[in-house]
Amino acid sequence: MEGCIYGVSLGPGDPDLITIKALRLIKTADRVYYPGTVGAGGRVGGVAIGILEAYSIPEDRMSGMLVPMSRHRDAAESCYEENYGRIAADARAGKRVVVVSVGDSGFFSTCTAILERAVCDGIATEMVPGIPAFIAAGSSVGMPLALQNDRVLVLAQLDDIELLDKYVKKFETVVVMKLSTLKNGLVKWLERSGGPFLYAEKVGMEGEFTTMDINALCQRDIPYFSMLVCSRHCMQSKLYKGNICREK
Ligand code: SAH
Repeated sequence: MEGCIYGVSLGPGDPDLITIKALRLIKTADRVYYPGTVGAGGRVGGVAIGILEAYSIPEDRMSGMLVPMSRHRDAAESCYEENYGRIAADARAGKRVVVVSVGDSGFFSTCTAILERAVCDGIATEMVPGIPAFIAAGSSVGMPLALQNDRVLVLAQLDDIELLDKYVKKFETVVVMKLSTLKNGLVKWLERSGGPFLYAEKVGMEGEFTTMDINALCQRDIPYFSMLVCSRHCMQSKLYKGNICREK
């Protein structure tokens, strides 16, 4: 009997922002594969396992997957191949396998690389959507991301921040994910552009930090879980007026 591989979205970090369907699949799966990096004691840790633990998923049903942080194609491919080998073996043994992702599993997610391989191998797959982090970032400060006929652009791994100049002219809302690659170019660009922006870090996670104030970013290290939203809708956020930083 062939099993099935489900690409299940966990939402952006707050365990309450998972869907009922995702939770049902996770709770009933034979095995749950989660992405992370090696932490203390060699165990794979990270945001995903934190959400799974919040729902008391037994440790012996979970398997960590190291995710490639390298942008080099070859390193990434061999990592996917290794993870997929284990996942496919479980599915072929008739197990219901869940592969979870933070945010939405079809949005800049390594889960896609797993599901693509499964489809090619004729293994049944299903994708279960979730709340992507940029949507949660807007809500976290009470601002809409789009109204009426607004155009929204979502970018990731922007190597040259100067490219934003042309995008903010064409799109009412521009989201930049994977911000950590930009380092101090970010503050310089924000100072020069002068437009309203939201910087959102670890939304819904421990250490959440949001600001619309450049001064709050000058000395700040930009971590992996951070993003920028450039939009005039920032002006509708309570954060914009007066209380421009929030650390939770
Ligand atoms: N599948 C995810 C995106 C994964 S790409 C989604 O649907 O949102 C990883 C990038 O997502 C990070 O570099 C960061 O820019 C963003 N991200 C994910 N979760 C985040 C969070 N809780 N707070 C801020 N940024 C987050």
